[in-house]
Amino acid sequence: MRDVGGRGPGAREVGGREVGGRGPFGSALRSAFGGAVDLLYPPACVACGDETGAAGGLCGPCFRDAWFIAGPICDRCGAPNAQHDAPEAACDACRHAPPAWDRGRAAALYEGAARAAALALKHADRAEVAPAAAGWMLRAGADLVASADLIAPVPLHRWRLMRRLYNQSAELARAVAIRAGRRDALALDLLRRTRATPSQEGRTRAGRIENVSGAFAVRRRWAGALAGRRVLLIDDVLTTGATLSACAEALRAAGAAGVDALTLARVARGGDARAGEPRGPGTG
Ligand SMILES: [Zn+2]
Ligand SMILES: [Zn+2]
Repeated sequence: MRDVGGRGPGAREVGGREVGGRGPFGSALRSAFGGAVDLLYPPACVACGDETGAAGGLCGPCFRDAWFIAGPICDRCGAPNAQHDAPEAACDACRHAPPAWDRGRAAALYEGAARAAALALKHADRAEVAPAAAGWMLRAGADLVASADLIAPVPLHRWRLMRRLYNQSAELARAVAIRAGRRDALALDLLRRTRATPSQEGRTRAGRIENVSGAFAVRRRWAGALAGRRVLLIDDVLTTGATLSACAEALRAAGAAGVDALTLARVARGGDARAGEPRGPGTG
């Protein structure tokens, strides 16, 4: 595992705390789960599916290829943000084009193990991924989860849901709420898609914004319940933030007092660390 963030070579910091090869930090990330899950599933790496010593963790090679975000970040989008000292400082991108949500966090860069875990989750390959990913997400966004009145996933359109029978964002929202002891805040059906939107893949940032603009609405049964309340949106991957912004706009239009966003991974931008490259200080 490596931590990416403005404070420099996080891998070495974590490594410095390791005892017998695994520090308390590392072992918690590697093995997000205790023995209960072992009874249900043979222990498998949440990224590659290979056998591991404990359920809900990463195998050795995947652990070394995980890029968890730590250190100074942009408070708005969760990106590593080395050039600003204040933790609440926004990155250049967010100052130029602020997202529609207030605070954003991502557990890892969409590279290596986190990318593999996100893809396994999306294709519903392995049941152990969501609980483990929730552990990583809580490490990045515990404060957001604690301050949320409602925790809601980015919804799939029902046609797509019927085809896939599975919404990875809902699985993550459920796992985060359970792990944080916040089942009371879980609102899986808070949002709906008003229309089916074609895939965001291959679109420019402007194209993505246009594609999902106005595509979300608060479900009628929640319409009167949002005034003065803070919502935490959960999604698997943040790319440009267009989808999360469209969701946040719908929530604000329905009276939400605040909207935050927590994702498993975020796509690396120029200047963020890439898998396989050593990360020096001040490159975020
Ligand atoms: Zn693995
Ligand atoms: Zn930002």
